[in-house]
Order: sequence, then C-alpha cells, then structure tokens
Amino acid sequence: MSLPSSAGQQSSLLRSLGWVRHSFLPSGQRPPDNTAYALQRHTATVCPAESNFPPKQSVADALFSHHGQPVAIYTADCLPVLIASEKTHQVAAAHAGLKGTLAGILQQTLRQFFQAGSTAADLFVAIGPAIGPCCYELGLPLVEEIKACRYVSGPLPGAFHPAINPRALRPTAPATQPAFWLDLPALATRMLLQEGIAASRIDNLNQCTYCMAEPGASYRRNTHTDEGYQLRFSWIASDLPARPQAD
Ligand SMILES: [Zn+2]
Repeated sequence: MSLPSSAGQQSSLLRSLGWVRHSFLPSGQRPPDNTAYALQRHTATVCPAESNFPPKQSVADALFSHHGQPVAIYTADCLPVLIASEKTHQVAAAHAGLKGTLAGILQQTLRQFFQAGSTAADLFVAIGPAIGPCCYELGLPLVEEIKACRYVSGPLPGAFHPAINPRALRPTAPATQPAFWLDLPALATRMLLQEGIAASRIDNLNQCTYCMAEPGASYRRNTHTDEGYQLRFSWIASDLPARPQAD
C-alpha cells in the first residue's frame, strides 16, 4: 500500500518548480504504487524507468524517467539524489553511496539529461538525508583509494576527526580507529558543480541518517547499536508532458 505523496521530507528547491512531485520518505514507507525502482548494486548504471517497472527487473543505481513516471531509489546512509530538468520536464533518481559516487553514478545520470537535450543550466538537484561528516568514519587505507578516483579532485571534504553536529538528535557515531570523517554530501555537491550545475540549483538537506533521521534509518548505526534498520525510499515524478530535445 502506498502512502500519500505528501509524506516524507521535501526539497524546497524542487517544490518551487511546481510540476515536480517528490519525497525523501522515512524508513519503511513505500513510494507510490506506479514507481519504478531497480536492483541496486553500487554501480554507475542508469536505466530508463520502463526497464524497472514492475520494480527490480535489473541492476541499476539510477533511474531516468523519460515520460514522468515516478522513479525511486532506496538508501540506508547512502546519498539519495533527485534531479529535474525544467527544459524537458524529465526527472531522475540516483543512489549515490560512496562506491557508486566514485564509480560515476552522478555523472552518468547527468549524461542522460544531456543526451535528451538538457544542459547543466536546466537542471535542479536535491540531495536528501545521508550519513554526514559527524558519523561517517572511514579507515585511512580507503581514503587513499578515494583520492585516486578519477572523479575526485582537490582535498577530500571532511576531517581527521568527526564534525560537530549541533543538530544531532542522538549520539553521533563513535570513533573506532585512526580515520577520516568524510562529508559525502559535500563530495557529491562538488562533483555536480564540476559538471556545471550552479550552487543555487543544488539543495542539500544536510540531514544525517545516523544522528538526525528517524530511528532505523541508518545501516551504520545498526552496526553499532543492533537496533535494526529499514530502507528509505526517495522518489520523484513529473506532472508535465516530457519535452525531449534530442533527435
Ligand atoms: Zn551524524
């Protein structure tokens, strides 16, 4: 059973468009019944909505909606990224965990928009709840791997200590090793900027799933507390007819 489309958190930027319906749902809630979503494997694979409706027909970590059908991804600390084009009225949802982000899932998703006739200036992006630099501890060997990624340039956003989160609603993640505390939403934001999207067109909700979201929202927190977790769906749909510009 699907819940009303008004349930969950919204991006004020996407809402301001008027023709986009979307939500970052709390853990355990379902997207609308006609929503397409894929089998996610932290890849850089993007599929059209039709190829994963009914859901989970094939592996993909982003879904592109050519004709307005709701598309979703599910997360439990990874980054949910929703994108809309005001030129073509097409929308997409991307699952951008660390692995997928390094594999180029965001760049591949943007490429679908570009191939359909949008430019970076036509796009609006919302980054939903994900584990934040207050709670995302990475071992140092992994940090070296990240720095070697072709999509990563400049100093990694984050620090060798956890960020203080004054908005935390519960204890942040404990430090368990010599580590780097990565700001994954900031890393994704930087990649989007590098693709030409203006900062004013990127809405980062900056909500940490570990210490700020509802209980059961965080895979990482479950590894520390054994409290269990459920997937969080993030979905987006267009209410206007698509206007693809490509041949
Ligand atoms: Zn946190």
